[in-house]
Amino acid sequence: MARTMHAAVVEIFGKPLVLREWDIPVPGRGQILVKTEACGVCHTDLHAARGEWPRKPTLPFIPGHEAIGLVVALGSGVIQVKEGDRVGVPWLFSACGHCEHCLGGWETVCEEAQFGGYTRNGGFAEYLLADPRYVAHVPAALSAQEAAPIICAGLTGYKGIKETQAKPGQWLAISGAGGLGHLAIQYAKAMGLKVCVVDIDEGKLAQATHLGADHVVNAKTDDPSSAVRQVTGGGAHGVLITAPSITAFHQGLGMTRKHGTCVLVGLPPGEFPVPLFDLVANCVTLRGSFVGNRQDMAEALAFAAEGKLRAEIELQPLTAINDILERLEQGQVKGRVVIDFHGESPRSDRTRGPFQAHPSAPITPLHG
Ligand code: NAD
Ligand code: ZN
Ligand code: ZN
Repeated sequence: MARTMHAAVVEIFGKPLVLREWDIPVPGRGQILVKTEACGVCHTDLHAARGEWPRKPTLPFIPGHEAIGLVVALGSGVIQVKEGDRVGVPWLFSACGHCEHCLGGWETVCEEAQFGGYTRNGGFAEYLLADPRYVAHVPAALSAQEAAPIICAGLTGYKGIKETQAKPGQWLAISGAGGLGHLAIQYAKAMGLKVCVVDIDEGKLAQATHLGADHVVNAKTDDPSSAVRQVTGGGAHGVLITAPSITAFHQGLGMTRKHGTCVLVGLPPGEFPVPLFDLVANCVTLRGSFVGNRQDMAEALAFAAEGKLRAEIELQPLTAINDILERLEQGQVKGRVVIDFHGESPRSDRTRGPFQAHPSAPITPLHG
């Protein structure tokens, strides 16, 4: 097998990713090697590439946590998957498995959790390592390209909706109809909720209506808090904020019904001061939600495999990554861009195109 692969690498925060060759990692004990077929591009990859969050990845690193691929090699002691299985390598790369959080099905908040495309190299590369205990098992009904957005965007929206505790027939307001939001709309409809969608882009709102939203609000032209309160008769029972905008967080709280729950999943850098009196006197629950556990993952994939929802995807090659991130930043991506690795083969004699053959300095992968 070829020893190097193509990868898109963050070498300096805030600079374009570098397309370069990288050693194909070798799976150690308890690890597997996955040959990437597809990898969705999440807004989180943009935050990661900029080093915008308090806990930063170690440079250089390969982002991408919606990777779907085939298991091509097993380290010793692996029993959970076999060669040829199609798996997803998600944000929750691994966890300790025995702490209070892991035992309670909250492995996402395990102190020792590792994150794909962040603290572990991710799917913007032709191969990646994975922990077979934490991979997603992709149902046969889904192609790699269709499954990719489900393992972060879909999962996060689905779990976030569950965390609002909104019941069938009640209102859910979703702020942000991008990668996460366009899937959350479909999960919510499949879960029997009435859905009001808020975004700042008319095209996204038109798509939201097409996907089944009962009502849409343009936060650029309307005050979303009062618009949502009016259409829902006092505020949505559940609110899910996916928009990477602090303004959207303030508005989201204003959309929440008395005794309702506002779930925050968007992760823009910055502070979110809360109007304490409104929160307390209205008995509102404000709750953070971070992807989902492995059971949530299986459920999220099952909805897609059963045809209850479909990610709207645009396929692009890995070489387009900087343009994709730029468009994501500008709010110009509808649904999800998925990097399609089909047709790509590891380097041997093919032309290298835009990939740098020789990194300027020897670089140790994050793991290996
Ligand atoms: P995206 O860029 O695909 O979509 C964001 C959407 O928000 C766009 O449609 C944009 O038009 C809309 N928007 C921007 N400002 C708005 C505003 N003021 N009001 C309403 N809508 C607004 O991004 P994405 O991939 O869906 O990710 C969204 C956020 O969720 C990011 O911050 C990402 O890091 C975060 N995220 C969190 C988790 C988690 O587990 N909590 C998981 C995945 C992503
Ligand atoms: Zn993500
Ligand atoms: Zn743990």
